[in-house]
Amino acid sequence: MASLYLHIPFCKTKCCYCDFNSSAGKEALYEPYLAALEREIAGMAIEGNRGALATLFIGGGTPTVLTSAQLVHLIKQVEGLFGFTGDIEITLEANPGTVRESDLIALREGGVNRLSFGVQSFNDQELCILGRCHTCREAEQAVRAAHQAGFKNINLDLMYGLPGQDGDSWQRSLDTAISLTPKHLSLYQLTIEPATPLEGYIDTGNLSLPDEDEILEMDAVTDQFCQETGMKKYEISNYAELGFECRHNINYWRNREYFAAGAGSVSYLKGVRDKRVADPAQYIDLINRGGSAVVESEELSQEASFRETVVMGLRMTQGVSLRELYDRYTIDLKEHYGDTLSRLIGLLLLRLTEDRLHITEKGFPLANRIMAELV
Ligand code: SF4
Repeated sequence: MASLYLHIPFCKTKCCYCDFNSSAGKEALYEPYLAALEREIAGMAIEGNRGALATLFIGGGTPTVLTSAQLVHLIKQVEGLFGFTGDIEITLEANPGTVRESDLIALREGGVNRLSFGVQSFNDQELCILGRCHTCREAEQAVRAAHQAGFKNINLDLMYGLPGQDGDSWQRSLDTAISLTPKHLSLYQLTIEPATPLEGYIDTGNLSLPDEDEILEMDAVTDQFCQETGMKKYEISNYAELGFECRHNINYWRNREYFAAGAGSVSYLKGVRDKRVADPAQYIDLINRGGSAVVESEELSQEASFRETVVMGLRMTQGVSLRELYDRYTIDLKEHYGDTLSRLIGLLLLRLTEDRLHITEKGFPLANRIMAELV
């Protein structure tokens, strides 16, 4: 299965918690960036027979700062160069503050079949604290417009553990989200990234985060909500109706190959992870000079790749298959991890069945610590 990620490093405004490779106020770069992106993709496609794409993910940043005509043109270019499988999943990340119904119709007709809205909260005060460029009402309108435009597969990203948030306000955000009938939810705990304005507000005491007990309460709200709504957890932070799991991201979590293009994007092909220059102006310059935008390459050893495949696979509730791992790496998982594995199983943080290793319900809240032992 071939997968391609395209990065659009532009946003309407910069949210105060965000350390993604994105910036606002770069409208003058949109056209030259798209031209460079198409040039990079064309170079990848003619390097060899890559096979038709089964998933395409256009993320950012905020891809929907571009016009629907620009985005559809980009998708058609990719299709012409790679070809698409009949059931391709084409995901577009969208910010509710940047979409109109007419754009959504054009995107749907242009091939996008999965829309992922970065909503983050359905509470205006929380949105304001996060520096989001939309209100709760605008987010609801955008999701309804996406339904009207014919989108059947809609994801909403929401965050918990926000300054001032408690279990009740998290419950209200989840309730509003489900009333909009998404097929997929990505529920992330806020992390305070270094050198973001939000870190400054926390450090100076202007804002404070919920404590551990309040986070546990929000986790309990999430568990209860999912049981009641039939949204099934299939990855640490991802929930879906059966059949609507994100195939593009599952490919990452299986540590399979993927192509990537665009500023700051990372591809993983033939055991090599290539990272492109983050700055969009430098990216344009490098590509226009006929060169490569790759600035870092890492070739993973067989063992390093094995360990990554285990750790990333454990993010999913289905865990990893020992047989598949052996077929791929000729490494026996039980022998490889020995006492560490026995200890984590003894603590009921991992469960080993005949062929699969999973993180348990008890283990999921401690997933980062478990993974640190296995990586
Ligand atoms: S819209 Fe997304 S990518 Fe853009 S600044 Fe906000 S969080 Fe970052």
